[in-house]
Amino acid sequence: LVSRKRKSENTIVEVNGVKIGDGSPIIIAGPCAVESYEQVDSVAKVLKEQGVKIMRGGAFKPRTSPYDFQGLGEEGLKILKEVGQNHGLAIISEIVSPEHIEMSLDYVDIIQIGARNMQNFELLKAAGSVNKPILLKRGLAATIEEFIYAAEYIMSKGNHEIILCERGIRTYEKATRNTLDITAVPILKQETHLPVLVDVTHSTGRRDLLIPAAKAGLAIGADGIMAEVHPDPATALSDSTQQMNFEQYEQFMSELNSFMKR
Ligand code: PEP
Ligand code: MN
Repeated sequence: LVSRKRKSENTIVEVNGVKIGDGSPIIIAGPCAVESYEQVDSVAKVLKEQGVKIMRGGAFKPRTSPYDFQGLGEEGLKILKEVGQNHGLAIISEIVSPEHIEMSLDYVDIIQIGARNMQNFELLKAAGSVNKPILLKRGLAATIEEFIYAAEYIMSKGNHEIILCERGIRTYEKATRNTLDITAVPILKQETHLPVLVDVTHSTGRRDLLIPAAKAGLAIGADGIMAEVHPDPATALSDSTQQMNFEQYEQFMSELNSFMKR
């Protein structure tokens, strides 16, 4: 169902008046994790100034260590919804278990399925059974074929609003957190009719690479970029070494805006 052979025209997912996949690239930004109302509110103000209409923020955080901050859960989703409504921003947040899919419908505009859950088939089926756009991230070590099959799981249950997100894969290279598989973008665009985003934060894991990686993503045909921004990255409860502060984020946006105009 996700195959380009089945449907030749691009799928466009529309959220908050933003068309994802219509040829003009979009930006999704926000903190790694929801930490407090004030934190999310301050990020929302900056996004608004930058004309960004979709805000991310993790409420359920799939962390490598059980002792790391696990997220605020439903309370975090409540904060996102309230801040989103106050600022006219659509909300995307990760859901990690099938039983939370229904509950999340009240809070988010896009459900994110994270890299660690790309092959959580019960979660994919649950996401496929609701009427809400799904952003599906590529698994940590998933082939493009496995990634496409994961999207097929969602669509096979009836939900056709799927956005794919390349977020880097694990290789032997240690200079970056993951290896951004940049050619996955045109391959996914050829093989499927779905919008494809590039997450520059989790793929590179390096603040100094966010701008070049985002430009590469746009140049190779991505429908948008996802990146993390935090009021004070040094004190962030997750991904403190790679989130941008507001000044860096403004620089990021200005570079991307001029790049897109060229
Ligand atoms: C995230 O976007 O918050 C996240 C955890 O990313 P990934 O699933 O790509 O690691
Ligand atoms: Mn993160």
